[in-house]
Amino acid sequence: MKLVFATANKNKIREVSEVLGDSFEIIPAAEAGVTEEVPETGDTVYANSIQKAEYIHAKTGLDCFADDTGLEVEILGGAPGVKTARYAGEPQDSGRNMDKLLREMARRQYEASIMRKMGLKTPHATRRARFHTCITVIIGGVRHFFEGIMEGKIALERSGRGGFGYDPVFMPDGCDGLTAAELTPEHKNAISHRGKAVRAMVDFLKKQ
Ligand code: IMP
Repeated sequence: MKLVFATANKNKIREVSEVLGDSFEIIPAAEAGVTEEVPETGDTVYANSIQKAEYIHAKTGLDCFADDTGLEVEILGGAPGVKTARYAGEPQDSGRNMDKLLREMARRQYEASIMRKMGLKTPHATRRARFHTCITVIIGGVRHFFEGIMEGKIALERSGRGGFGYDPVFMPDGCDGLTAAELTPEHKNAISHRGKAVRAMVDFLKKQ
């Protein structure tokens, strides 16, 4: 089965292809004729995944899917959330995004410590966070939705060279404090938000 994937991110194409296996052929959006940046202006990752899949479907008429992921950090009240990709502004840059994330978290933790010293109540400063992926698939013009979550903590500094995006500062639960950038691609796929969402999508597609 052929499916157009609404992304130009080679890392994502590789990760998703590994989970999908040989029965599915992933066609990057550019190879299906969509070379411009696909718009994502929704207020939630769910809305963005619908918007991107609808855009590809309208342009190509082909079966397709789009994913959208947000990083939700507890001490930042769920930010960067839908702004994860462009947290530090344009142009998108993972290094600047991670720097801003660590800076904002340090600022919030400092503010919380001052409030506590003043005897004011403040929510417990935690580094807990999660990646949340939503996928919209359009098959024969009908939409279907899948999601996946990876829970973990934000590290104090970067480590590891694998993965992409915020992987060097994200320590998934159950990985002995390793960051997602220190895991093998297979390990990351087995536990990741996108891996879980894609496997849910594959289970569904295999029944079609
Ligand atoms: P997207 O919507 O899937 O493009 O994800 C938005 C942003 O979240 C990306 O630009 C990355 O910075 C980040 N992101 C998504 N998935 C991952 C991941 O598996 N590891 C680290 N960062 C990710």
